[in-house]
Amino acid sequence: MADFLTHLECSKTGEVYESDVLQNLSRQNVPLLARYDLEKIKQRVKKSDLKGRKANMWRYEEFLPVREPACKITLGEGFTPLRKTDRLAENIGLQQLFVKDESINPTGSFKARGLSMALSAALERGVNEFVIPSAGNAAGALSAYAAEAGVKAHVFMPNDTPSAFILECEYFGAAVNLVDGLIDDCGRIVQEKKQVHNWFDVSTLKEPYRLEGKKTMGLELAEQLNWELPDVIIYPTGGGTGLLGIWKAFTELKQIGWVSGEMPRMISVQAEGCAPIVKAFEEGKTSAETWPDAHSIASGIRVPGGVGDFLILQTLDESNGGAVAVPDEAILQYSNVMAENTGIFPAPEGGATLAGLIKLKEQGLIDAHEKVVLINTGSGYKYIETFKKKQTLKAEAI
Ligand SMILES: *Cc1c(COP(=O)(O)O)cnc(C)c1O
Repeated sequence: MADFLTHLECSKTGEVYESDVLQNLSRQNVPLLARYDLEKIKQRVKKSDLKGRKANMWRYEEFLPVREPACKITLGEGFTPLRKTDRLAENIGLQQLFVKDESINPTGSFKARGLSMALSAALERGVNEFVIPSAGNAAGALSAYAAEAGVKAHVFMPNDTPSAFILECEYFGAAVNLVDGLIDDCGRIVQEKKQVHNWFDVSTLKEPYRLEGKKTMGLELAEQLNWELPDVIIYPTGGGTGLLGIWKAFTELKQIGWVSGEMPRMISVQAEGCAPIVKAFEEGKTSAETWPDAHSIASGIRVPGGVGDFLILQTLDESNGGAVAVPDEAILQYSNVMAENTGIFPAPEGGATLAGLIKLKEQGLIDAHEKVVLINTGSGYKYIETFKKKQTLKAEAI
């Protein structure tokens, strides 16, 4: 298999770390980023080489960190459809609107990409016991890949996590722990337990390779749009790996000359009940404060704080993008609107991107002619209880 990964880099200081051994955060307690010999990729790989490769995220192997084929744990994740949603676009008053439909990934969310990659890379580096704090989808994905690999997963989730997530983890054979608190409380418990038990921590951005899995969304977007990047990408932001991954993909593609011209504006959508990035963005800050009393039905973005806040804000700034908060009522309403107009049953987080788009459009921050991509990060089928609770809320005309 191709080997273009050269090293890891501290996202704050640029300090170099070895990529052949297990790593979590840098000495500064910030994420490590995977670096490749892009010059060599540029010389050796052509866009046309992708033709005929399997329709999953591993088709971009030169841009990925796993070398040993036997360590590649795959359930067919990635290469999800980029749906051109003309009726929805017309109703909103846009000419070109796309939904990247991550709901069809194994275990029903884009978390499959990151955990397939992180688990594979960690197996290659000798790990066989994993731990994760999660709002649900990450735990389900880790559990599924651990089941396929035949290794042990320990998952820690808030006790109000919808039951589909809890059940799937149990069925996949993971050790399930429910915590009276939010995902950051789960994270604190994981911090203690992993040391005692010597478990490998695959928390968001606390090891370098989930990000590389999420990066494949950006590689796919570029390939699926025939290497012409969109104008705007709207992403439901929790810990931010997806947003950072997509941006990392575009940056690498630009460096090897596969894409050119304007980069897309990256937009973070959060729930009004938990919007640390939106608040920091609006205040012009370079880092975010932990959000007190976080609440939202969109549990995947109910993330009060994380280690990647400064990187998310940097990306929003660099891309000339933005951040917008939407209320839970709008999240439900627009999940419904997306479903009715596209046949996609989105996770509430996916509905949030449409609610965010409507708000930005009303504020004049997106023009009718612009090419916009919404990232529907997961499937609504796992949130049945959430949707049921609010069933009475029917979408009004857009
Ligand atoms: C985890 C998750 C998110 C947030 O992803 P981050 O990478 O943490 O920003 C959004 N939507 C869904 C469905 C999720 O499971």
